Amino acid sequence: MQYPEPVAKLIDSYMKLPGIGVKTASRLAFFTLDMRDEDVNAFAKSLISVKRDLHYCSICGNITEEDPCEICRDKTRDRSTILVVEEPKDVMAMEKMREYKGLYHVLNGVLSPMEGTGPDDLTIAALIQRLHDETVKEVIIATNATTEGEATAMYLSRLIKPAGIKVTRLAHGLAVGSDIEYADEVTLLKAVEGRREI
Ligand SMILES: [Zn+2]
Repeated sequence: MQYPEPVAKLIDSYMKLPGIGVKTASRLAFFTLDMRDEDVNAFAKSLISVKRDLHYCSICGNITEEDPCEICRDKTRDRSTILVVEEPKDVMAMEKMREYKGLYHVLNGVLSPMEGTGPDDLTIAALIQRLHDETVKEVIIATNATTEGEATAMYLSRLIKPAGIKVTRLAHGLAVGSDIEYADEVTLLKAVEGRREI
């Protein structure tokens, strides 16, 4: 038996999400069918809005409603330091810590030969462009402690250091293979404080 078309379409949509196979997608689709109308409407609106109202900041690559983003516009932030992360959600994790007052740069991924992600697929050129401004004295690389994250850190270090800018890497109280976004605030703070030059 085939599912009615609206259900089949919803299952197809859920299957486009990462880590969701046909079984989970079917379960979610039928769960959606049982949800209250207002919840489903709010869900649908959020899906549309996240694409329509959010953009990437033209300076740092973070997601924002206004370009440049709030952090890039904030005159009270320390413009001598740029902390480089993989994803926008890592910026949120760092901001929760409330200790870091510098700027950010979001790579939107990591170098991954396996997945065919090269330097041109990331916002590396934009980062290098930002360093031409002589106010930047230190770049803190906070990519995740994975093989790709480490390789990306080394790549960036080799690229940035010749410009005479200090390049540091977060200390890893963060476990190997761990993601910045799941680290608690104290661990993150220690990682930033204990950063070492690379
Ligand atoms: Zn920005």
